[in-house]
Amino acid sequence: MTTDQNIVVVGAGLMGRGIAHAFVTAGCAVTLVDVSEAALAAAAEAVRAILADGVRLGKLQEADATAAIGRLATGGDLAAAFAGRPVDLVLETASESLATKLAIVRESDRLLPPHGVIATNTSALSVTEIAAATGRPDRVIGMHFFNPVHKMKLLEIVRGVATSEETIARARAWGEAIGKTSILVNEAPGLTTSRMSALMGNEAMYMLQEGVASAEDIDTALRLGFNHPMGPLELGDLTGWDTRLAVLEYLHATLGDRFRPCPLIRKLVKAGRTGRKAGTGVYEYVEGKRVPGSGVSFR
Ligand code: NAD
Repeated sequence: MTTDQNIVVVGAGLMGRGIAHAFVTAGCAVTLVDVSEAALAAAAEAVRAILADGVRLGKLQEADATAAIGRLATGGDLAAAFAGRPVDLVLETASESLATKLAIVRESDRLLPPHGVIATNTSALSVTEIAAATGRPDRVIGMHFFNPVHKMKLLEIVRGVATSEETIARARAWGEAIGKTSILVNEAPGLTTSRMSALMGNEAMYMLQEGVASAEDIDTALRLGFNHPMGPLELGDLTGWDTRLAVLEYLHATLGDRFRPCPLIRKLVKAGRTGRKAGTGVYEYVEGKRVPGSGVSFR
């Protein structure tokens, strides 16, 4: 792949900002689109901060960081993001709602040149169903990234029923250009990773709800007992419990009862305790740092 690709990233939340950072660093021109002005401003700031850290740590030259930020544009209007250049890839990474994603891909399909690919970063939804809403199902694919995108090496590429081999090859090349190792998954609810991590996070929440152990001790058990880099409750805070709940609801509907969302997750989401991004979840956060001993207790 040449790295002079034109890319539109739709959704400037936790994932959109990381994906935008990865592609501008690789030399692509990225327009980041979101319905929320605040999300766009926070995303541009986050991309700048990751680049500045890269310079401080000696991973990146200052001139390259400046050039990378110059390749990032932001805007609230999807149609405007396509104007004046042939877009190669639309990467949809808006909130985990099928209705939202269908509306975005329908509109993108109308605006995208024939060679363009639509990729969805959905954690669990059906790529085939999303592709079927477009007139180019062979050029629709899942590209599932991990949070934080600039630190996580894996890219799960998801083949829908109609996805062509050429589209898979292009997605692999895009992944390689931004330094990711890709695996190929045939479409299945929750792919490989979300299915596994939703189950573990849900079980950890049931344990917390039942008072089996404190949040800190459940997380320590998985970190030190199984060598996981993070505990399941810390990971849920990082992912966002709203996103996790949407994934579990979909997996419950498609794969059955073992994915029934723990009531405690619903409680946290209703209380606005969606995790790190809200400054509060299972744990409390001050300036992005977890407050020691802040694990929520439900006994
Ligand atoms: P988030 O809540 O941080 O951000 C979602 C963004 O989408 C918000 O800024 C919201 O304003 C925007 N949005 C909603 N509707 C929109 C629309 N119609 N047009 C444009 N923007 C719109 O969520 P996130 O964690 O970044 O997740 C985004 C997607 O990535 C979801 O599909 C999620 O399942 C997937 N994902 C999340 C993670 C994770 O760890 N959080 C990991 C992999 C994949």
